[in-house]
Amino acid sequence: MLTERYFCKGKVVQTKTKVDFRWGRKLKVIENVPAGVCQQCGEKYFASAVYKAMEKLAASRAKPAARVTVDVVRFKEAV
Ligand SMILES: [Zn+2]
Repeated sequence: MLTERYFCKGKVVQTKTKVDFRWGRKLKVIENVPAGVCQQCGEKYFASAVYKAMEKLAASRAKPAARVTVDVVRFKEAV
């Protein structure tokens, strides 16, 4: 499972990873997520049950384990 090669020929390895999960205007970092990670391009593949669990966690109002501050900047071409 999760060993299909999608866009590149990279090897997909099952691991636990940190996911920046975005829904709407909110962003939640979810740690310790089981995923297949491409060793070449870093693309992450999730089982559908894992993805559903992440959606639930993202929507949850439970107190987070930690909080980080994120800076949002606009891309600017170097002149
Ligand atoms: Zn890849």
